[in-house]
Amino acid sequence: MTQRNLNPRAPWVLSTHELGRRPGLMRQMNLVLPAPADIGVEMIGVPKDIDVELDIRFEAVMEGVLVTGTARTPLRGECVRCLEPVTSQTEVNFQELFFYSSEDAAEDDSLLNGDLLDLEPTFRDAVVLTLPLSPVCSEDCTGLCVECGIRLADAEPGHKHEVVDARWAKLQNLIPEHNNDQES
Ligand SMILES: [Zn+2]
Ligand SMILES: [Zn+2]
Repeated sequence: MTQRNLNPRAPWVLSTHELGRRPGLMRQMNLVLPAPADIGVEMIGVPKDIDVELDIRFEAVMEGVLVTGTARTPLRGECVRCLEPVTSQTEVNFQELFFYSSEDAAEDDSLLNGDLLDLEPTFRDAVVLTLPLSPVCSEDCTGLCVECGIRLADAEPGHKHEVVDARWAKLQNLIPEHNNDQES
């Protein structure tokens, strides 16, 4: 729980002023907000400033304002098998009660700052949970050739390395033994 002063001009800081703290009042909104920075896991995330579409409902309850919503955002990342760019999107649902007073709230609860609430942490937490830990460019991506590192989807069908290579490798292994003249 952090009681801090919110910047009313920050894009994810929203006003609940119209609800007037009267339980039962509701307000519905459709918004497009720029994605905050640094939402992601190792291989995929939300590009900063990309458009995030939100359907949100504010509902005044006794202790605070209940925010229920859906967010849709594009994702950008890299395929864990072949390292090609991955483009996808995710839709997340969230619900959070923002308390009027820290006296009613527990340690991890969110608080209103006057009439303002900051939806960014709620959005961030909801999205991160949906991100794939191992994104792939396609389900049947065959990855990279272990011999030469070429992306197999881009290689000739049946791409493989000649058995000759292996034989040469064997011969090369023999040569040092042959020349291994230990006389000193
Ligand atoms: Zn791939
Ligand atoms: Zn190869």
